[in-house]
Amino acid sequence: MSFDSLGLSTEILRAIAEQNYHEPTPIQLKAIPVVLSGKDLMAGAQTGTGKTAGFTLPMLQILSSSTGRGRRPLRALVLTPTRELAAQVSESIQTYGKYLPLRSTVIYGGVNINPQIKAIRAGLDILVATPGRLLDHVSQGTLDLSKIEILVLDEADRMLDMGFIHDIKRILALLPTRRQNLLFSATFSEDIKNLANRLLNNPVSVSAAHNTAATGVDQLIHPVDRERKRELLSYLIKVGRWQQVLIFTRTKHGANRLSQQLERDGISSAAIHGNKSQGARTKALAGFKSGDVRALVATDIAARGIDIDKLPHVVNYELPHVAEDYVHRIGRTGRAGRDGSAVSLVCVDEHKLLEGIERLLKTKIDKEVITGFEPDPRAIAEPIPNGRNRMATGNNGRSGPSRRVAGSTSSNPGRSRGGQQDRDYSSGGSSKKPQSRRRGMSGPTTNR
Ligand code: AMP
Repeated sequence: MSFDSLGLSTEILRAIAEQNYHEPTPIQLKAIPVVLSGKDLMAGAQTGTGKTAGFTLPMLQILSSSTGRGRRPLRALVLTPTRELAAQVSESIQTYGKYLPLRSTVIYGGVNINPQIKAIRAGLDILVATPGRLLDHVSQGTLDLSKIEILVLDEADRMLDMGFIHDIKRILALLPTRRQNLLFSATFSEDIKNLANRLLNNPVSVSAAHNTAATGVDQLIHPVDRERKRELLSYLIKVGRWQQVLIFTRTKHGANRLSQQLERDGISSAAIHGNKSQGARTKALAGFKSGDVRALVATDIAARGIDIDKLPHVVNYELPHVAEDYVHRIGRTGRAGRDGSAVSLVCVDEHKLLEGIERLLKTKIDKEVITGFEPDPRAIAEPIPNGRNRMATGNNGRSGPSRRVAGSTSSNPGRSRGGQQDRDYSSGGSSKKPQSRRRGMSGPTTNR
C-alpha cells in the first residue's frame, strides 16, 4: 500500500517522496487514518517503527487544512521525555512539513531560554517540548496553551519512568478540555493504562511490534568473563571492522570509563549521558554521525531518541536492569526495516537479566563463545549494583558496574518510579537549575 491512498495532501506526499519512503510502515498504516478522523489514539509502538511520521503526517494535514492567515494560536503540542527525542521529532515535523505554511519549534532544558521565548513570540502552530522546560515557559508567562487542539505524548512509558507524571498532570490542566489526544508508548504497564484512561476519550488502539524486538536485527550473545568484556569489545570492533557502533553501559561512570579505554585501544570514542552538558552531547552525536567517532558509549536514557540512519551495530556491553530497555536499545539498529546487528556481552552476573529479556521476547537468543574469550565455567555470579537505587540512597551513581556494592542483592529489580539516575537528562529545564548559556542542538527554528 502506498502513501497516496492515505488521504495526505500533495505537499506532504512530496516531502515524504523526498525522504525516499516508498510505503507506510505498519504503525503509519494503522495510526494515520485514525488521527485524520479526529479520534483519540492509543498506539503501541517503539522507536524504529516509523511512529514519529505516524503522528506527524496526519497532524500536519489537520493543521494545514484549517490554517487561517496572520497570527495564529499554538494548536499542537508534542511532549517527549528527552531533549534528543524532542529535537528529532521537531526535525521530522520540519522535514515532512517543509512545503506547508506551518510554523514549529522545539523547547527543552539545558539551553538558554531566551531564543525559545523569541521563537514562541513570533507565532507557532506546533510546539515540541520536554515537560520541565515547557512548565518553565508557562511559569514565566511566555506560553499560552489554551488553544491546543492536538496533544501528543510520545514515548509515554519513558516519561512515566522518568518521573514526569506530576509535570504531565500540570500540563494537562492547562489545556482546553476539547482536544484530540494521541498517546504513543512502547510498553503498557498499569501506570500507562491509568494515564490513558485519564487522558484519552474513547480512543482507538493500534499497535506495531509491541514488546518484541525490532525485525531485521540479528541478535547474538557472546558469553564472556566480566573482567574481559572491554578486551572482547575492542577485539570485535577491530576484527569486524565496525566503523559505527553504539555501545550501552548501565551507568554514566561506566560509559566514561569504557569510552576512555576504547580510546586507549585506538578506537575513537565518545560517551553520552546525563552528566554531560548539552554541548558535549551534541558534539559527541555529531561526531558519531559524521564518522569521526567510531564508538559511541551511552546510557539508556541518553540513547533515547538517537536516530542514526543505517546504524549497523549495537552492543550491550552490560545488559539493562529492565528487560524492555533491551528492546529499546536494539531498536537503534535495523531501523525501519533495515538490517542491523545487536551483540550482547554477557557475564555470569547477568544470567538472570538475560532470562528476563528472553522471557519478554518469548525466544532464546543465539549464543556464540569467541575463541580466546571462553568464560571460566567456575566463575561465581556477583550481585549487580542497581544505579537507580543508588541514586535514591544518595550515592549519585558514582560506583562503576564492576564494583560490587555490599548488600545489593537485586539483579532484576524492575522499574523504579522517578528515581532513575539519568532523570536529569531531560528535566534540565527545571527553573530550579542554573541556565546554561549554551545554545541548543539546532536551536529553536521555525518551519515556514
Ligand atoms: P521512528 O520510529 O519514528 O523513530 O522512525 C525510525 C526511522 O524510520 C526514521 O529514521 C525515519 O526517517 C524512518 N522512516 C519513517 N517512516 C518510514 C517509511 N515509511 N519508510 C522508510 N523509512 C521510514
